[in-house]
Amino acid sequence: MSKLKARLVAQIQANGPLSLADYMDAALSDPEEGYYMRRAPFGTPHDGGGDFTTAPEISQMFGELVGAWCLDLWARSGPPQPVNLVELGPGRGTLMADICRTTCQNSDFTQHLSVHFVETSPALRAEQKQRVPDASWHDSPATLPENATTLVIANEFFDALPITQYARTQTGWREITVTLENNELAYARGPEQKNPFSTVQAALLPDAAPGEIIEASPAREQVMQDLCAHLMRVCGAALIIDYGYARPAAGDSFQAMKHHEFVNPLALPGEADLTAHVNFAVLSQLAAATGLKAYPIAQQGEFLQRLGLDQRAAQLAKASPDAVGKIMGERDRLAATDQMGHLFKVLGLRHPDMPPLAGFEAPQVQS
Ligand code: SAH
Repeated sequence: MSKLKARLVAQIQANGPLSLADYMDAALSDPEEGYYMRRAPFGTPHDGGGDFTTAPEISQMFGELVGAWCLDLWARSGPPQPVNLVELGPGRGTLMADICRTTCQNSDFTQHLSVHFVETSPALRAEQKQRVPDASWHDSPATLPENATTLVIANEFFDALPITQYARTQTGWREITVTLENNELAYARGPEQKNPFSTVQAALLPDAAPGEIIEASPAREQVMQDLCAHLMRVCGAALIIDYGYARPAAGDSFQAMKHHEFVNPLALPGEADLTAHVNFAVLSQLAAATGLKAYPIAQQGEFLQRLGLDQRAAQLAKASPDAVGKIMGERDRLAATDQMGHLFKVLGLRHPDMPPLAGFEAPQVQS
């Protein structure tokens, strides 16, 4: 048994069941043995490594299009002015490296640019430094500078923040907890509660039949609120990209990945990636409540295609005819409806004084 698992077992023996959020937080972010703290988990089955892969790791086109999005917005925001480009949970730094490789074609932008990373993992900070040496690092959005217009990018960040789960009963909700059964970690249910949800989520709850699970995330809501308050203060915009649902939905999406396979989320704390789908309706509502314009949630495929994914793929294919199959395969992986195109969603946010965002339908017409 790993040291982390032994500690969790002892903690449950001493204090009773853990909330799923505390379990997820320990498994991912324990300073010594948390999943992200010690390793770089990214790779593909083809390169023989890692546990999972992400859009920027799949294709350079992802970062190039996000880079073009940033440059376009900055250029339409008025005369050249300082800009803080912030990434939450930058992983290996690949996305930001691709963004900067694209935006450096505009020397005005580069001269006005500062890059800021919000990252808790020392192992990943070291990787990010190799790819983006001039960045500044922060433990949380709380310390981000307020001296310039700010563009925030978060790809597969919110899915890694801890969730809680509640099972519907006839008359209320019972929290899903983590307890011990025969010395192994196992799910249990806490006492019945009437309404365990935040005001925002309570207003957006879907119907759930007895036994069905609803997921919540005070941690995500807190980060979102801090981020939106920051964007209101500095006059900024954000792109939040992740897998999840655009409308509130019931269901258990808590999952663990190891070596590109799903595993039991309680089996290997600290050794598998733990995530859950993102409730974009809640994030969008929180943003609107702070005064930001929240665009109708887009699917990743349509968003990238509106930014020119097909044209960029054709351009790259023309430059490297031998790699056409690979390039078109990457395009499909990012945008096809049966791959990442539908499952991944994009939430676009902007301060009311920023120009409209590229890649979205007009705000406030959500159908
Ligand atoms: N955006 C990257 C990586 C996604 S993995 C990509 O698309 O490839 C999640 C990232 O979020 C990792 O960098 C992880 O270390 C970071 N992370 C997870 N929880 C965090 C937290 N609470 N605060 C800051 N960063 C966190």
